[in-house]
Amino acid sequence: MHVVTDPPCDLCTALCCKYFALEIDKPTRPEEFDQIRWYLVHQDVVIWVQEGEWYLEVRNRCKHLLPDNRCGIYDTRPDVCRDYGDPEDGPCEFYADTLKFDLYFDSAEAFEPYMAKQLKKRKKRLAKRRAGRKKVKEQV
Ligand code: SF4
Ligand code: SF4
Repeated sequence: MHVVTDPPCDLCTALCCKYFALEIDKPTRPEEFDQIRWYLVHQDVVIWVQEGEWYLEVRNRCKHLLPDNRCGIYDTRPDVCRDYGDPEDGPCEFYADTLKFDLYFDSAEAFEPYMAKQLKKRKKRLAKRRAGRKKVKEQV
């Protein structure tokens, strides 16, 4: 059996040097959903969810990526670059076909139906909770 120990960077076009992603809180309140809409009205921004964690991705190439896709600051590159692609942490972008997302939004328009559905559910939940509280008060 062939055991993969390193990502195949020599075969890749430096896909992981052309974006960065930050973990963000899962939206629950209307203003948090609206904030995600705001992110998504910007160009080259994507929101995705993997294993329940939410991420904001900015598709912007690194300033140090050389035209031949090598790193221009290889010896002093940030730790996140050094550590990235460890097969034990799961597949990197080279294996994009196998990457699985729970949710993926590349525009505000794509996000809005999801947002509307979640806010509707929230409204129902809150109404139910309020009705429950009212009932308890009446019994006291
Ligand atoms: S995406 Fe994977 S294979 Fe491509 S450069 Fe980054 S770590 Fe290497
Ligand atoms: S510092 Fe080097 S390895 Fe890190 S993202 Fe930039 S080009 Fe890629």
